[in-house]
Amino acid sequence: MTTEALFVRISPDLRSAIDEYLAEKGMSLGSGVADLLARGLEAAGAENAIGALEQSLADARASLRERDEQLGEASARVASAEAKVESLRTLAIQLEGAPAGRCPAPGCGTSFNAIDLVVRRQCSKGHALTSVLEQASHTPGLNSTETLIALGAIALLIGLVVASRSV
Ligand SMILES: [Zn+2]
Repeated sequence: MTTEALFVRISPDLRSAIDEYLAEKGMSLGSGVADLLARGLEAAGAENAIGALEQSLADARASLRERDEQLGEASARVASAEAKVESLRTLAIQLEGAPAGRCPAPGCGTSFNAIDLVVRRQCSKGHALTSVLEQASHTPGLNSTETLIALGAIALLIGLVVASRSV
């Protein structure tokens, strides 16, 4: 094995610690110091590897935390969407349970609810309730076009809820 000389200045304390180590191991100054240097290098390399591992562990923890937060936000969004659908369902049930009027078809007079009027647009016996809607939209103080557009939007919304409920 070829060798090279390395001259370094060290403190007297370090020198006496090295001498003690060499005496204990029964090693010569040259081979003992070379051994210590090699071990020191190995330890420094391991420290770097540990540092890299710690860094990637920290990165993994950070991205897990981020994913947790995203999951939390997503489930909060789902919960609030479910709450909205639920309150619309409750509204649909209430509208369906509340009588809104009586069918104007001659000889009928069946009571109809808001869902019959706005969504189904007929009484339970199949008479069209469009005339009731038109009459309502001509109520003084109401803009008939806007009222009909609003009724159409409500009908669409409630219709969707009623449809999803029956599935
Ligand atoms: Zn009727």
